[in-house]
Amino acid sequence: MNSAEIRDKFLKFFEAQGHTIVRSSSLVPGNDPTLLFTNSGMVQFKDVFLGTDKRNYVRAVSVQRCLRAGGKHNDLENVGYTARHHTFFEMLGNWSFGDYFKRESLKWAWELLTKVYGLPAEKLWATVYETDDEAYDIWTKEIGVPPERVVRIGDNKGAPYASDNFWQMADTGPCGPCSEIFFDHGPEIWGGPPGSPDADGDRYIEIWNNVFMQFDRQIDPATGQYTLSPLPAPCVDTGMGLERLAAILQHVHSNYEIDLFQTLIKAAARETNITDLSNNSLKVIADHIRATSFLIVDGVIPGNEGRGYVLRRIIRRALRHGHKLGQTKPFFFKLVKDLVAEMGAAYPELPEAAARVEMVLKQEEERFGETLEHGMKILESALAGNTGKLDGETAFTLYDTYGFPLDLTADICRERNVELDEAGFDAAMARQKSTARAAGKFKMAAAVEYTGDKTKFVGYESLAQSAKVIALYVAG
Ligand code: ATP
Ligand code: MG
Ligand code: MG
Ligand code: MG
Repeated sequence: MNSAEIRDKFLKFFEAQGHTIVRSSSLVPGNDPTLLFTNSGMVQFKDVFLGTDKRNYVRAVSVQRCLRAGGKHNDLENVGYTARHHTFFEMLGNWSFGDYFKRESLKWAWELLTKVYGLPAEKLWATVYETDDEAYDIWTKEIGVPPERVVRIGDNKGAPYASDNFWQMADTGPCGPCSEIFFDHGPEIWGGPPGSPDADGDRYIEIWNNVFMQFDRQIDPATGQYTLSPLPAPCVDTGMGLERLAAILQHVHSNYEIDLFQTLIKAAARETNITDLSNNSLKVIADHIRATSFLIVDGVIPGNEGRGYVLRRIIRRALRHGHKLGQTKPFFFKLVKDLVAEMGAAYPELPEAAARVEMVLKQEEERFGETLEHGMKILESALAGNTGKLDGETAFTLYDTYGFPLDLTADICRERNVELDEAGFDAAMARQKSTARAAGKFKMAAAVEYTGDKTKFVGYESLAQSAKVIALYVAG
C-alpha cells in the first residue's frame, strides 16, 4: 500500500464516522507565536480545545505536515540514527471536540489498523497511563487485547505528569492521559517492549498516540500545588505517523525503506553519484529535502535567527552530507523536482512554489559552498590531532567565519566519537560579543538598514567580516 492509499483510507474511514476532512495547515503556526513549527495535527485546533475558537463540526480528521526540528519537539539529532524519526513527517489524526471519548477513539483505531490496513493483531501493543483503568479496561475487556500486551506507564521522570503517557498543552490548561499503540517489528531487531528498559530500541515502534484531554490543570495560588479539575467536555486528539505505518504495510522495518523515501534516496544517489543506496548520508539528504522544501513553501527563508535559522541549519546539514559523499557543486536543489513528483499531488502548494524553492535552495548552496570546503579542512585537521575533544575555539571559528552551525559541527564530532566542548564554544562566543561591543558604535551603525520610514538592525556576520554587512533583512 503506497502513501497515497494510506492517506486516503485514513481520511475515508473517519469521514464515514462523521468526521469533517480538514486540510493540513502550514508548518508555520498561524495562531501561536510561541510555537516555532507545527509539530502535530492538533496545532491548528489548539484554540478549539481552549474554547476560544468554534468550528461548525465536532469531529475532524486530517493529514498534517509536521516539523520536529526545533522548540519543544526536536528530532533533528535522531535523523540518520533511528529507523523511525524524521524532521518533516506527515501525521494522520482524528479529533473529537467535546463529542466522543476513549471508547470510540480506541475502538476505531483498532478497527482501522486491523481491518482496514490489515495489521496482524498479535503484533500490536498498547500503553495506557498508569491510573487510567478506563482505557485499560477498554483495551483488555472490550477490544480483547491480551493483558500482557497492554502496559501501564506512569510518571517516571519526577516532574508532575511528565511521563510519555500524560499529555499537556502547557504547564497549565487542558491535559490528560494518553494511550499509545506500538508495533512489534520482530526479534531480529534490537529493543524492548514499551515501558521496559530497552524501549528506546527500534523493535517496538510507536505508531499511534491517542490523547484524552479530560482535565484542566491549574496552580493553586495558596499552596503552589497543581490541581486537576475535570473538563466539562472531554476531547480526543490523536496522531499517527504516516511513514511508520507505511513501513509496516510495505513489510519493511525502517521508514527510510518505504516507497516515498526510496524515490528520494535514489534521487540523492543520482545527484551525488553514489551507488550504495544504504549509505546513511543519502537518508539524511532525503529527509532534509522534504523539511527544507516545505518550510520554503510555507514562507520561511534561510536566515540567522528563529525559523529562518532552523531552515538554514537543516540545509547546511544536508550540504555537509553531500560534501561527505564527495559532492562539491550545488546538487541539493535538484532534488526538488523528485519531491514534487512524489508529494505534489497530496500537497498542491508544493508544485506551485517549486521554482521558488529551487531558487532559494540553490542560492543557499552557492553561499555555503564557498566556506564549507575550507571549513571542513580546518575541522579535519583539528580532528586529526585530536584527543577525544574538539575545542570550543575551533567550533566557534567554524561557526563565525565559515557558517558552520554548532549542531552541524556537533554532528560531525558525533560521527567521529569526539566530544565537542560546548562550554568553550559559548565562552568564545561571549568573548566575541564583548569585543564587538568594545569595537564601538561605528560597526553597529553599519549594520542599520533603512527600509522606507523604518530602520532595522540586520546584524553582521562576524568580526572578521564586520565590514561586510549582511544585507538580508525583512522590509518593514
Ligand atoms: P517517539 O517516542 O517515537 O519519538 P513521540 O511519542 O514523540 O514518538 P507523538 O508526539 O506521540 O510522538 O506523535 C504522534 C505520532 O507521530 C507518533 O506515534 C509517531 O507515529 C509519529 N511521529 C512522532 N515523531 C515523529 C518523527 N520525528 N518522525 C516520524 N514520525 C513521528
Ligand atoms: Mg519523540
Ligand atoms: Mg513516544
Ligand atoms: Mg507518543
